[in-house]
Amino acid sequence: MRQKLAAGNWKMNGTADALSELNELTQGYPEASVDILICPPATLIDRASEAAAGSAVAIGGQDCHANVTGAHTGDISAEMLRDAGANYVIIGHSERRDDHGETSELIAAKATAAYNAGLIAVVCCGEHLSTREDGKTLEHIGTQIAESLPDTANADTTVIAYEPVWAIGTGLTPTLEQIAEVHDFIRAELVKRFGEKIGNGIRLLYGGSVKPANAAEIFATSNVDGALVGGASLKAADFSAIIDALV
Ligand code: PEP
Repeated sequence: MRQKLAAGNWKMNGTADALSELNELTQGYPEASVDILICPPATLIDRASEAAAGSAVAIGGQDCHANVTGAHTGDISAEMLRDAGANYVIIGHSERRDDHGETSELIAAKATAAYNAGLIAVVCCGEHLSTREDGKTLEHIGTQIAESLPDTANADTTVIAYEPVWAIGTGLTPTLEQIAEVHDFIRAELVKRFGEKIGNGIRLLYGGSVKPANAAEIFATSNVDGALVGGASLKAADFSAIIDALV
């Protein structure tokens, strides 16, 4: 039985004021039957970790460098995230792949860095609209998954988020059949590569315009173990409604 996960990605949103939303969330979930994760901007991770201590809400980073230390101005290592109180890190979000030219090979190196630091890596994949229109979604996802996951990935260290790029922040979502098709495909690829135990144990999140109104039907879809949520994770009330749809 895979533990469900509701993960929020605040992206480049939030200064100290945003901690009031986190406080509301932690007060609402002193404990929970599902895993809950908030990934605030790096500047808030240590304060968010303190605020979330003793609640069911875990804190994560939105990216990490593949190296432990070094001359990488502006970057943050997985160890630094861990030191600031993070337990998870998002790796290979499409905004990192597109805005920063991150390749799947680099993402695999970042995932290994996350494992070495004791962080759970939320590894993202997803197709652009043109890829879907060309009928190449599964081929594209298969390649991204194959190249972005280290051989050492397992169910304790790795979560995969399927996020169609055209659904992120647009209000558009795939049909439930399209979500199921991709999630079932990813599950089969994982089992093929890692075997039944690990392949069936790795959690698969859907991401892309998840909101309170569509969360329940998405969560009822085949091989969907939760969601990676952007915009609707910024307000505690919205994110709580999504968490409640997962329970
Ligand atoms: C995301 O950024 O991972 C995301 C899914 O964003 P949104 O929920 O706003 O579409």
